[in-house]
Amino acid sequence: MKKKKGPGKPGINFLQHFLSILVFFVLLSFLYTTFGGEQNKPEEVSVSWVAQQVRSGEVEKIIVQGDKLSVTLADETEAVAKKERESSLSETLVNYGVSQDDLENVVIEVKNESGFGYWLMNLAPILFPIIFILLIFWFLSRQVKGAGGMQAFTFGQSKARITDPSKQKITFKDVAGNREAKQELEEVVDFLRNPKKFLDIGAEIPKGVLLMGDPGTGKTLLARAVAGEAKVPFFHLSGSEFVEMFVGVGASRVRDLFAMAKKASPSIIFIDEIDAVGRSRGVGTGGGNDEREQTLNQILVEMDGFDPNEKVIVIAATNRGDVLDPALLRPGRFDRRVMLDLPDRRDREEILNIHARKKPLAEDVNLVVIAERTPGFSGADLYSLMNEGAILAAREERTQVSQFDLIRSIEKVMIGPERKSHLFSPEEKRITAYHEAGHAIVASVLPDADPVHKVSIVARGRAGGYTMKLPLEEKKLQKRAEFLDDIAMSLGGYVTEKMIFGDVTTGPSNDLQVSSRLARSMVTKWGMSDLIGPIALEGNDGRALFGPGVDGRPHSERTESIIDSEVSRIMSEAMARAQMVLTEHRKALDAVAEALLDVETLEQDAYDTIIRAHGIHPKKREKKEDAVKKD
Ligand code: ADP
Ligand code: MG
Ligand code: ZN
Repeated sequence: MKKKKGPGKPGINFLQHFLSILVFFVLLSFLYTTFGGEQNKPEEVSVSWVAQQVRSGEVEKIIVQGDKLSVTLADETEAVAKKERESSLSETLVNYGVSQDDLENVVIEVKNESGFGYWLMNLAPILFPIIFILLIFWFLSRQVKGAGGMQAFTFGQSKARITDPSKQKITFKDVAGNREAKQELEEVVDFLRNPKKFLDIGAEIPKGVLLMGDPGTGKTLLARAVAGEAKVPFFHLSGSEFVEMFVGVGASRVRDLFAMAKKASPSIIFIDEIDAVGRSRGVGTGGGNDEREQTLNQILVEMDGFDPNEKVIVIAATNRGDVLDPALLRPGRFDRRVMLDLPDRRDREEILNIHARKKPLAEDVNLVVIAERTPGFSGADLYSLMNEGAILAAREERTQVSQFDLIRSIEKVMIGPERKSHLFSPEEKRITAYHEAGHAIVASVLPDADPVHKVSIVARGRAGGYTMKLPLEEKKLQKRAEFLDDIAMSLGGYVTEKMIFGDVTTGPSNDLQVSSRLARSMVTKWGMSDLIGPIALEGNDGRALFGPGVDGRPHSERTESIIDSEVSRIMSEAMARAQMVLTEHRKALDAVAEALLDVETLEQDAYDTIIRAHGIHPKKREKKEDAVKKD
């Protein structure tokens, strides 16, 4: 498959076309004059002159071609003349007073007048302008398409860029880190390479994979790598490209895109920045909503219409997973979701190595140090860091990139938009490490808290770090004891900060909000406080069930103060429990915090190893439903 209608270079195209038209016409006029010229050579004479010559016996031969007479005289000279179309030559000559005898001496030859040359000569003056105008229209319409101005001519046709499998050079080797994501996608690659194996055994393959992650974490890169690994055609389109000037274009683009991909199957459709069309309906801006909605619906319809053996897999990417329409996430659509995290120290080193491949590095370059100094940098940041370094070296007329170039580039990239907020000082990093370690240890020790799946101090969103826990089994109903342990775990970060540094930061503010809300719900909604008893005072939205009283307050002052004291009792008991756990397991806490300072992210195995060494038994992991504890 070739790249269709590649974008860009309309100027060059136009020039080429214009020149070829010009050459074409110069050639035509040349032919016209040479061929036409031959017939023009003989002298043009009048019919009466011809008649006179015939009478005086000077004419040897007359060739009649329609109304044209080619006369050959006795002395071999030639002449042409015209007669009336309606009357025959002999009639005409007789009319001019030529006698029958005179005529007999002349050879008269009548030629078929429908020769190609004849028609060309006659029609050319009419046809050429028409052809010319048509050509101009044709080229204009091509121009319009190329320039992407008025879409009147391309309407609906998908604008997807297609990458030939043989030209797709990016593979998983070019993507550092993101091990989980790669694992998940390897399955997809396996299917595209060998669909029969899966279909024979009746396995249903995911239709849609959604890549979610911060900007620059390598979503687009990873999608390309899947195509490169699978060696199948790759249809690449950005969400915003679906929606353009004309209403209804988006939906028909989707239709075309899917039709094309099915024809080329097995193949991959990659919709980048899908939030442009897949934003939750009814959220966000007004105008243009209809168009987006239609486009989104069409995507859903197409994905629902897939046969399991269609062998087309849709990969979508977004950095706003939170605003996506829930309809997109339903089973049978984008039911595989892959999170791409910001890289940790080891990943950063790997990424730097990848991008250092083509750059000559001086001997003093130590990428480990650069990786250590760039927490919070995304893959794209590291890429531009290497690039800035090379630019600095080149500007100073050096042929190798030195460590100093790279260190200066860190700052340059940091000052870039929105980066500063992600970077912490060594002190902040230490606090965050202890904070997260605190959450994790409390979760691991308390019997009814969920086990820890992953601990990280790599900034994600606005949170400083996060501890991910997995519930042992999927539960619909939660027990009071679980809530209490959950609250204690939430407070683990706060307690640790106080214990280790003797002060608290703004870091745990979200922890406090979440746990206070939970404690209040226990008291007011679920009847989990003995003092209030089994009565629901508030509905799910947190508003009073029985309506505000006369003074506009939801509860009586007495009830309110009981609620307050119960909430604060629950909170302080949970805090005491967290404190107890952390004091008892201070060594484990230190060990986890140190490990976090070093590698930034601890997966479950690494984490379990550390706590086991300090006498805490890791909980068994069974169910895969992630719950993320931020801050
Ligand atoms: P996203 O689509 O998530 O915003 P991109 O895939 O466009 O990010 O990444 C931009 C560039 O950053 C890539 O072209 C690549 O050079 C670099 N990059 C990002 N993540 C990685 C990674 N994990 N490994 C190697 N390079 C990366
Ligand atoms: Mg992208
Ligand atoms: Zn926290």
